[in-house]
Amino acid sequence: MNAAVIVADNLTKYYGPRLAVDHVSFDVRRNEVMGLLGPNGSGKSTILRILTGYLHPTSGTAQVAGHDVVSDGLAARRRVGYVPEDVPLYTNMRVREFLDFMAQVRGVAKGRMRAAVDRSIERLSLERVGSLMISKLSRGYRQRVAIAQALLGEPGLLILDEPTNGLDPRQIIEVRELIRALSAELSILVTSHILAEIERVAHRVAILLDGKLLSVQSLDGHAPTSRFLVRVPGSTDAVVRGAFAGRAGIEVAEARANDVYLIECPEGAAPVVHALVHAGLRVDSVAPAESRLEDVFLRLTEGAAR
Ligand code: ADP
Ligand code: MG
Repeated sequence: MNAAVIVADNLTKYYGPRLAVDHVSFDVRRNEVMGLLGPNGSGKSTILRILTGYLHPTSGTAQVAGHDVVSDGLAARRRVGYVPEDVPLYTNMRVREFLDFMAQVRGVAKGRMRAAVDRSIERLSLERVGSLMISKLSRGYRQRVAIAQALLGEPGLLILDEPTNGLDPRQIIEVRELIRALSAELSILVTSHILAEIERVAHRVAILLDGKLLSVQSLDGHAPTSRFLVRVPGSTDAVVRGAFAGRAGIEVAEARANDVYLIECPEGAAPVVHALVHAGLRVDSVAPAESRLEDVFLRLTEGAAR
């Protein structure tokens, strides 16, 4: 059974007169990484706050692990590890001391506390920094401490709000690997305004704009790239198109500036280059065009902007 661990049904949230989330419905399935992608202000954090019981929806409902987030909020909240965007950490505590403290706050039974903290430290590879002050840690390590504390109660679901914000490229890669590793045993809902990050970790992605859910895309079984940007210097649109005449399956989708052409060919780049060279043209560079998700995102947001 592929039961959903989160079901959001027509979630709507007004802040005063301001509509921040507009009839959003989606689910998160067991053991999947679901991405919530949208520009700043699109309502991502508001949705997460509703799912974690920090805000009540104006209308609509949501269940977390089968518990309604409003009427059964406490039970729902117990099933979730939530890492908000700017996690308030007690920076004047040592890592292990902080986790002990948070385990107590979370109501972890005294007899299980030690094991729970040990397990969290191990899962997030914090062994090396256990006795350091949190104020001495890098942002990347602080992020890990935040995730470690969210996992103390052994929730089946982890909710991360923009976990890569403010991290350097190496730390971003580490967070990505961490999410992948944790997804083996957890369902994860993660937000970002950066498409490439969501695309790399999520199985599915929900695209938000201005509080509205535009689309849910599956990223499983990514089709191999079939769109290429090819630079054919000193040629013309007609000549390039002519090179593909009679070649089934190759199409010029668009002529761009600087002798660059967007070409579609499901067989890959090789037949494209072959046809061009065969027609006596010089091919300067070939690169895969936008990712499928980028494509979808641009199309959707373009439509919504009108
Ligand atoms: P995101 O996380 O995608 O950046 P948010 O959920 O933070 O989006 O915000 C969605 C919209 O709601 C924005 O227009 C934002 O300005 C507004 N908003 C967020 N929090 C509040 C608040 N506490 N009071 C009033 N408006 C808010
Ligand atoms: Mg946000």
